[in-house]
Amino acid sequence: MSDCLFCKIIAGEIPSTKVYEDEYVYAFKDINPLAPVHVLIVPKNHISGASEITSENSAVVSKIFETAARLAKELGIAEDGFRIVTNCGEHGCQSVKHLHFHLLGGKQLTADMG
Ligand code: 5GP
Ligand code: ZN
Repeated sequence: MSDCLFCKIIAGEIPSTKVYEDEYVYAFKDINPLAPVHVLIVPKNHISGASEITSENSAVVSKIFETAARLAKELGIAEDGFRIVTNCGEHGCQSVKHLHFHLLGGKQLTADMG
């Protein structure tokens, strides 16, 4: 999508600190990290958010979770633990309308999910 921030990042039109890339998935450091490790993992194909996951496009979601598990090990947060979050829509506080999963770790996260 031409006016989508994360599509532009994936295309290299906007710089990012890449941590992983393959045919389906792109992962990069969040510009405003909320934890020592804060990586965004996104599908290369534009999906606007978690409410738009269907049987036709959901294969990339398993690729994203495989990537998250591998990156957690590589980034040294697998043993102590981490969190994977996706925000959707207004109540979910989604600010970028391209499906993305936050991988957060490297400190004790709070239990508050509200
Ligand atoms: P959301 O609030 O939609 O769940 O998450 C969007 C995330 O994208 C935020 O954590 C925000 O810091 C991050 N973000 C917004 N713009 C940019 C950018 O230009 N580059 C990078 N690396 N992250 C961004
Ligand atoms: Zn997009």
